[in-house]
Amino acid sequence: MRYNYKNLFASQHEKFTAILGQDYFSSLLVEDDLSDSAIIVTDKRVYQVGKLYEARQRSRIGSHRAGRGKKIVSLMDITGTSSKEVSRPVPGSALIAFGVLSATLGLLSDVRQSTYIMLGIALISIAAGVWLILKLRKRYLVIEYAGGSMAQPVKFITDSELNLFQGIISDEKEKLISGAADSKECPNCGEKIQLSAKICRYCGEEQKDLSTEESR
Ligand SMILES: [Zn+2]
Repeated sequence: MRYNYKNLFASQHEKFTAILGQDYFSSLLVEDDLSDSAIIVTDKRVYQVGKLYEARQRSRIGSHRAGRGKKIVSLMDITGTSSKEVSRPVPGSALIAFGVLSATLGLLSDVRQSTYIMLGIALISIAAGVWLILKLRKRYLVIEYAGGSMAQPVKFITDSELNLFQGIISDEKEKLISGAADSKECPNCGEKIQLSAKICRYCGEEQKDLSTEESR
């Protein structure tokens, strides 16, 4: 799956701000292959594309489920960002359970030699289980919005890098909130201009005054 501006963004006038993809902050969005997954921030919306992860805060096992496609959330709906480390303990737990079973069978055995062998197997599988649980831990950047959350697995990670990405989202959201109050989109070119503007500063289109238009 390949994405670019044209088929990714919901509107033509959106400006790409940042991408959190396989390569962290990966370049500019030109023709990135986003088949794995990425979170893309524009000045209006946040997109999750490729593999979709949903953070399920309550369940301990399998906190993230992957689907495929594209999810779009308005920047205004973003309530916050956080990061969390989630372990996927199922394979590890299975190994540990197998180890405990081996140990039990070994202790029940009358033959001393097989007891030793079973205890040896038990020790190895329990150690391997613990190692797996630790190794399968993954860190996610979680973006929360009204009604849900999206998650992006991340490899790198220093807290300052995470803060940077969270900061970008907050900045864009603040700009959007403060800009929405006293600006509008030019009907001719779509650029954001002052609400009181009589002429668009981008394309020169004369702006109709809504109040006089109604009285005509
Ligand atoms: Zn214009």
